[in-house]
Amino acid sequence: MLKDHHCGELRREHVGQEVTLAGWVHRQRDHGGLIFVDLRDRSGRVQVVFDPNEAPAAYEMAREVRSEYVLQVRGIVRPRPEDMVNPDMPTGEVEVQASQSTILNPSQTPPIYVFKEEDEDITLRLKYRYLDLRRERMKNNILLRHRVVKFIRDFLDERDFVEIETPIMTRSTPEGARDYLVPSRLYPGCFYALPQSPQQLKQILMVAGFERYFQIAHCFRDEDQRADRQPEHTQLDLEMSFVEQDDLLTLIEEMLTDMLAQVTPQKRLLSPFPRLTYAESMALYGTDKPDLRFGLELVDLSGLLADSQFRVFNQTVAEGGLVKGICVSGCADYSRRQLAELEELAKRGGAGGLVWMFCEEDGLRSPVAKFLDPEEQRAIVQRLGAQQGDLLLIVAGPPRVVAASLDLLRREMGQRLSLADPDLLAFGWVVDFPLLRWDEELGRWDAEHHPFTSPKEEDLPLLESDPGRVRANCYDLICNGYELASGSIRIHRRDVQERIFELLGYSVEDAQERFGHLLEAFEYGAPPHGGIAPGIDRLVMILAGEESIREVMAFPKTNQAQDPLMGAPAPVSEQQLRELHIQISSLPPKFLPK
Ligand code: ASP
Repeated sequence: MLKDHHCGELRREHVGQEVTLAGWVHRQRDHGGLIFVDLRDRSGRVQVVFDPNEAPAAYEMAREVRSEYVLQVRGIVRPRPEDMVNPDMPTGEVEVQASQSTILNPSQTPPIYVFKEEDEDITLRLKYRYLDLRRERMKNNILLRHRVVKFIRDFLDERDFVEIETPIMTRSTPEGARDYLVPSRLYPGCFYALPQSPQQLKQILMVAGFERYFQIAHCFRDEDQRADRQPEHTQLDLEMSFVEQDDLLTLIEEMLTDMLAQVTPQKRLLSPFPRLTYAESMALYGTDKPDLRFGLELVDLSGLLADSQFRVFNQTVAEGGLVKGICVSGCADYSRRQLAELEELAKRGGAGGLVWMFCEEDGLRSPVAKFLDPEEQRAIVQRLGAQQGDLLLIVAGPPRVVAASLDLLRREMGQRLSLADPDLLAFGWVVDFPLLRWDEELGRWDAEHHPFTSPKEEDLPLLESDPGRVRANCYDLICNGYELASGSIRIHRRDVQERIFELLGYSVEDAQERFGHLLEAFEYGAPPHGGIAPGIDRLVMILAGEESIREVMAFPKTNQAQDPLMGAPAPVSEQQLRELHIQISSLPPKFLPK
């Protein structure tokens, strides 16, 4: 080794030892007479002092070095003078007095600095990702990710799970996104699909008798790059035979509880994880992934306001809509402008407008107060549990719109009032999702989760008569407003799977063509089975307190699905295209101007 100690490990007990270090120049400071270099390796940083009187050659070299030069330094560890101790640095009590030093490799002036994060453009950060990853925050995120994955492997190994790889080049399996395709050279006109998830293969592994499978699996989804999406992400993909829903929920709950105790002991959990049905979650929070760190629950006022003089209220209820509201404490001093912002938010959720009411000593103050008789006003206050000084936000409309608008308002107010404890990881379960959702655009039913999810036995009679009311054996893991995992107990009988395919609009031939292999496998003794797939990127993101999954992936892509470091995607040669029997009908746009 070119070093015998790591920079970040040096402490008082090393004082007097001669050490050899190797690493990067974090910063160089010339104090006229002495030069200080913070030398950095993966373990951390230590201050190295170059003194012209002690080691003139090393001092001369140190004058040359700049940020990100790679150095080897030999020297003696000594205590820092009392007034030079840096309590913010783990090595802050010591420094290394250099006796010899070698430049192993110089560096250009880095386009982004490692020692300070500025608000750089993400494309620049990703183009120079190797510099970006040298930063303390990014390094810690990647190390945290390693510990999380290592924990998962050990935990599941102890519980008899087998890690099995499934192919990247395979056949399409639907998870609601477009496929990435790989053209086949040997079979002109045929394509492999990259897996949106290993869903079908993990089910087939259950038919194969493995009983407990997991994989740290790459999944590829060609989605429109809205929000915080990446073309590929990593899941803990898991499947078990002979289990019921509770077995899976308990396993994941134990895994996360133990994991957190080990990797982020400073964070708190709700224990046991709260469980909500989908219907409860929608009613109380207007979303299926509520942030459970705070209340601010939605209250249904429809019954109470069905006969109100206020037309918006009575008409909405008469048309089968809802009137719901939230009570925000201590915001009765909101200005017109603040209220207008909230109304804008409600409209973004689809609402026609927002009704606001201030709860004051002598009753409700609101533009609609004059339409509400004292009895109704009292009932609203009571139902919402409002107190003097509170702000009531009420939305009327179709259930979906009311849910979306109040979800936005609830989250906004939670943020404005700092209601969410940043040290709390409020994991929870949402269960009993509907099996199907109506796709307006296509005019047909679509799977809410995926087509392999089993319907609840007691809802089977509704399958043809009232498909929208059929509930699934399906569960989501949520945390702090994010969906972290989806899973389900699967269909394991051919006849049931065929009925679902039919409902989803697949013709018999179509189903056979796309999923014949699975249907056939179900005929050879498929055990009852179920599974789940927590997203590793999102989990690590939440544990790291980051806002984007990009910050916990070593080499993510931009929001435009480009990799500025490797320069992907990129055109390929004519020769390659010819071998693949592919003709480009129009020229590809020029990629990533240098
Ligand atoms: N394959 C599913 C997904 O990717 C997870 C599961 O059902 O296990 O969301």
